Amino acid sequence: MTEVVATNQTIIVVGGGISGMTAALEAAECGKDVILIEKNPSLGGRVSQLYKYFPKLCHPACGMEINLRRIKANSRLRILTQAEVAAVSGDTGQYKVSVKLAPRYVNENCTACGACAQAVTSEFPDEFNYGLGKRKGAYLPFNMAYPQRYVIDPRLIGTPEAEKAKAACQYQAIDLTQKEQTLELQAGAIIWATGWKPYDANKIRPYGYDRIPNVITSVELERMMDAMGPTGGKILRPSDGKEAKNIAFIQCAGSRDHNYLKHCSRICCMASLKQTTYLRERYGDDGKATVYYIDIRAIDRFEDFYQKVQQDKNVTFIKSKVANIVLDKASGNPVLHGVNTEGYKRYSNPHDLVVLAVGMEPSMDFSKLAIKIAVNEEGFIEADPSNGGMFAAGCASDALDVNRAVQHATASALRAIQVVNRVARVEG
Ligand SMILES: Cc1cc2nc3c(=O)[nH]c(=O)nc-3n(C[C@H](O)[C@H](O)[C@H](O)COP(=O)(O)OP(=O)(O)OC[C@H]3O[C@@H](n4cnc5c(N)ncnc54)[C@H](O)[C@@H]3O)c2cc1C
Ligand code: SF4
Ligand code: SF4
Repeated sequence: MTEVVATNQTIIVVGGGISGMTAALEAAECGKDVILIEKNPSLGGRVSQLYKYFPKLCHPACGMEINLRRIKANSRLRILTQAEVAAVSGDTGQYKVSVKLAPRYVNENCTACGACAQAVTSEFPDEFNYGLGKRKGAYLPFNMAYPQRYVIDPRLIGTPEAEKAKAACQYQAIDLTQKEQTLELQAGAIIWATGWKPYDANKIRPYGYDRIPNVITSVELERMMDAMGPTGGKILRPSDGKEAKNIAFIQCAGSRDHNYLKHCSRICCMASLKQTTYLRERYGDDGKATVYYIDIRAIDRFEDFYQKVQQDKNVTFIKSKVANIVLDKASGNPVLHGVNTEGYKRYSNPHDLVVLAVGMEPSMDFSKLAIKIAVNEEGFIEADPSNGGMFAAGCASDALDVNRAVQHATASALRAIQVVNRVARVEG
């Protein structure tokens, strides 16, 4: 059984992405007791699924490594993975949080040797790679995963595959008897760092994501670029496995549209500008990118990045909201139709591959929680005094880039610290 001590001096952080890790670390490094709750088997959130991040184009592994060093050095921070909040009640300074812990079936003895994965044959769609490619039924979610501990997929339990995995383990690390647990925790303050999810591209019917194989999403392209990812770092067309060198980027795919998400997702312009640099990196002068946009939203210091991309002769910008995409069956090429509003010319442009710059929406539906939390029209948490000792951090509050998400998380940690300090003063 997992034992966790929590009091009304504890700060609970829900979500172990970059924002949750930041908020938890800032509070723990100020001497507060913090419990970080992550529903996935490892920390890192969606940043760990990026190939590189703008504006500096560094690998997410660098930022992750620094945070992991801080986590390992801090005894006040308790991390629970495969953990989800089931219910919250109470008020500022006296919350009760019920947390469901799913079994990993692998204990702390795991050395991440990988023998269990070699022993099993069953495979499942790989969540880390957005379903591109498969992973084994015994698996490490990704190379840099923290904790560095394998997971047995619950679908293996009760099958000979689970026994094969157990028999292959030399370290008594596999425990197939583990069961789901519910922990009842106290907390003085709660930080919601539950982040975002990509808008479901299937809903944007004119772009044919569900019908045209060579239409993919921006998040999938990030995974294709990873040398350890599903395509070994190559940009491959799903239809025929050929390398795609002439790529269209469609902006506002599902954003700024009354049929889908009304808001501007704020990041996807920069994400596509960044991804045009991936083509240069892979193919040099042979890579051609065309960005179809309504207007490019690259603010503050990102303007320099935009200007640099504009100077690349292999990147073309077409001011247009693409009307629809039609498949050219002979070539497998998606053909984009629309009107270039600079000159009002109709176009019908074939490309090897289309990347939809999908919008960002909140990953969690806060209206399903029994406790009331103020959200805006898009479902992101508002900074509202009625939320008491509950605060949002990062993309739970809005579509933000990493830099802004981290700043926001630091501010949330400070607010949560103020709450538990107030509680201590009143009780003292
Ligand atoms: C295509 C694309 C490319 C991008 N590229 C860049 C870039 O280059 N540079 C940049 O600065 N930004 C980039 N971004 C934005 C970046 O991804 C976000 O800023 C970042 O993910 C925000 O982190 P977060 O921790 O707030 O949210 P997330 O990364 O979404 O993390 C949230 C965490 O909470 C967990 N969680 C969710 N619900 C629950 C629950 N109920 N219980 C427990 N845990 C839960 C999730 O599993 C996850 O681990 C990009 C975005 C897109 C769409
Ligand atoms: S569970 Fe056992 S076999 Fe599997 S990676 Fe861990 S130590 Fe190796
Ligand atoms: S950031 Fe750019 S692509 Fe994304 S919704 Fe806003 S304008 Fe459209």
